[in-house]
Amino acid sequence: MSRPLVADIDLGALRHNYRLACEQAPQSRAVAVLKADAYGHGSVECAHALADIAPAFAVASLEEAVALRDAGIAQPIMLLEGVFDAEELPLIDAHRLWIVVHSDWQLDALLAFRPRTPIPTWLKLDSGMHRLGFAPEAFVARWQRLKAAPTQATDLHLMTHFATADALDPAYFRRQMACVEALRQQLEAPVCLANSPATLAWPQAHGDWNRPGVMLYGSDPLEGANDASRALKPVMTLRSELIAVRELATGEAVGYGGRWRAMRPSRIGVVACGYGDGYDRHAQDGTPVLVEGRRVPLVGKVSMDMLTVDLTDVSEADVGSRVVLWGEGLPVDEVARYCDTISYTLLTGILPRVPRRYRAADTV
Ligand SMILES: *Cc1c(COP(=O)(O)O)cnc(C)c1O
Repeated sequence: MSRPLVADIDLGALRHNYRLACEQAPQSRAVAVLKADAYGHGSVECAHALADIAPAFAVASLEEAVALRDAGIAQPIMLLEGVFDAEELPLIDAHRLWIVVHSDWQLDALLAFRPRTPIPTWLKLDSGMHRLGFAPEAFVARWQRLKAAPTQATDLHLMTHFATADALDPAYFRRQMACVEALRQQLEAPVCLANSPATLAWPQAHGDWNRPGVMLYGSDPLEGANDASRALKPVMTLRSELIAVRELATGEAVGYGGRWRAMRPSRIGVVACGYGDGYDRHAQDGTPVLVEGRRVPLVGKVSMDMLTVDLTDVSEADVGSRVVLWGEGLPVDEVARYCDTISYTLLTGILPRVPRRYRAADTV
């Protein structure tokens, strides 16, 4: 028998979550964000699973987009940071990709290029994230340059990204929205604004297009869950098994550095999963793990290939017992809190040595 660790990917849950994103914003179309190998879920498989319901996909690089084209994906694919080099433009044209333009050098390169067909272009506004995009006072001139170049750029959209759409405090989000609204009206621009939290919690941010990402994979991005976010279904379930069980006397320690010590006679289970698989080494003692469906606490430092749990209160657990690290029955968001991180890093962090096992969607 081979190593029991596997990431089960439920493509039906992915479709459910995508549909939920669409139901939340019935006036918008949703670009399914598949960057970083679909947040660790496998971009080709996820794209195929959504191909009949999602009108467009988004990724972070030309290489990610070409991988989808090579796998037969025909939808438009948006490059969220546009080109990194002017030399990418011929391939953008050849593969019919959509580009974001966030900098003057990208704008100049596009205007100097002669595409076979005009390239759908998303001009990025820096409404307050202060990462990419044009400041509001610089935006209009760039918009007009693109408008005046219909053989290079077509289907112009105003795009921006929110810094705090997940937060309960709406103040900064409202400031960003006010910035967008002013330009949207002045330019009569179609817009693409909402990420997952804005799709779920801020109807006023729903644009012609939205860009849901992490919610498609079933993680709740909101600081305060709502009815919609509670209806998300986990797509990845990270499963393994106990490969050893041992009894420890009071006072004995477990694992590197002896971080955790038994306060009572304890039964310790060893799970085949470690940071060499992408499980977060920052997981604290007490991080929940499911063994035969029951919650037990992780104890001791995570090793490269293994981690340890306290089975003292689950007497039926033994070698071969089924383990869930996150997914069905244990939200990845909860595990992330114990690791002082977010679901995004846990999901994208699952390494190639963990086999992905796909469960096909019952289509319709
Ligand atoms: C990653 C990304 C998204 C999706 O964000 P989520 O929080 O995962 O929904 C949307 N827009 C841009 C520009 C991104 O980079």
